[in-house]
Amino acid sequence: MDRRRFLTGVSALGLGGWLAQPRTGAASDGDDRRLDAVIVGGGASGLAAAWLLKDYRIRVLEAESVAGGRTIGGQWRRFHYAKGTEYIGEPEGALAAWIDDLGLKALAIPPPTGGVAMNGRLWTGRDILGFLPGAARDDYERAAERLEALYEGGIGAAADRGLGPGVVETGARVERIERAADKEHPLRIHYVKAGRRNSLAARACVLTAPAPIAAAVGEPVLSGSARRTLASVPYAPYVTVNLMLERRVLHETWSVAAIGEIFVTLYDALRTQVAADYRGPAVLGVYVAPEHAADRSLMALSDRALVQRIVDGLERYVPGITGLVIDADIQRFDYAFPVFDTGHTKRLLALATDDSVAGPLVLAGDYMVYPTFDGAVESAVNAVDRLEEYFG
Ligand SMILES: Cc1cc2nc3c(=O)[nH]c(=O)nc-3n(C[C@H](O)[C@H](O)[C@H](O)COP(=O)(O)OP(=O)(O)OC[C@H]3O[C@@H](n4cnc5c(N)ncnc54)[C@H](O)[C@@H]3O)c2cc1C
Repeated sequence: MDRRRFLTGVSALGLGGWLAQPRTGAASDGDDRRLDAVIVGGGASGLAAAWLLKDYRIRVLEAESVAGGRTIGGQWRRFHYAKGTEYIGEPEGALAAWIDDLGLKALAIPPPTGGVAMNGRLWTGRDILGFLPGAARDDYERAAERLEALYEGGIGAAADRGLGPGVVETGARVERIERAADKEHPLRIHYVKAGRRNSLAARACVLTAPAPIAAAVGEPVLSGSARRTLASVPYAPYVTVNLMLERRVLHETWSVAAIGEIFVTLYDALRTQVAADYRGPAVLGVYVAPEHAADRSLMALSDRALVQRIVDGLERYVPGITGLVIDADIQRFDYAFPVFDTGHTKRLLALATDDSVAGPLVLAGDYMVYPTFDGAVESAVNAVDRLEEYFG
């Protein structure tokens, strides 16, 4: 990510100034169905947009039963684990301000952080230096000193709490965003919750769902070109499996990159939560990628077959692991990673110059910037910037 651009974007936006603006056109008191902004999607970008707009009358509509999107986490016994985003770089700019505001604690991941699993051999801790060729060792040692931050319980859950009661409505799947005749509230957002149809009137809407979903729900408001552009963003699927084990199996590293296996990365979810010599019950994060973006075979594998294949693969590195498995938490992501193929810049330019997404409807989401947590936050900063221009 271009951090300079991000920081410039933040200071040009002037968070304090934005939040302190007079609320002209705010919905009348007592009518909570007329809002300044409805935010569709409660992932990193939607929750960041909500934080930037928190002094306005807003609502976040999240389709799933919990907020967080691709940054959700789980809990087993006293341990937290990630099901999607596992770490972020040292926070800067709007992200740092947001995290600070939420009172979250950044946890440094103790080095050494990386290892490799290949041909049945696990290279972790100081061993990794034997695996790497000369020049790469220096790079590795430098990288291993870098601090990376991680948040217990997942930033999604904390961000949701930080917004106050009623702002994030979960289990609310948006079906359609339409233009309305009301000049003050020109958008109507239709959604389904617990089998019932509802709608909200709003001055504006920040649409943060993955691009193909945004194309479908925003169809009545989007230009034909914006619709086609959004519908054409390719996404790769991804599956994560957290294995609950009788005892900890990774001690000397936080993550292991696997080569030639069904899993691509293993994570010791306990790395920041227990002492280095802890050997008791543990959670091992196993991240499984498709062969290529269009390969959906992983999504079709049954839970049982998936866990069996993972455990069979792990046996080569941790003999006897099969007998240690107590439980598994499987998370399938249909829209895991937007693919930044050769058409990506062209798509971004088309969206940047399209009037149908310059207000009252604006777009945010990692596909607008870069497929990382901070990319999603940056997209929210940009979207709120656009809304500010639209509100005038
Ligand atoms: C397995 C995995 C690991 C990752 N690891 C990292 C990492 O370590 N570090 C990092 O920086 N990034 C990581 N990423 C990327 C990062 O998670 C994403 O870039 C970021 O979370 C995207 O946020 P978002 O808000 O754009 O999208 P999302 O998180 O997908 O949020 C969109 C939200 O919209 C909701 N939604 C969809 N349709 C509707 C609808 N019709 N109505 C209402 N709501 C709807 C969804 O339920 C979702 O909550 C990882 C991603 C995955 C999949």
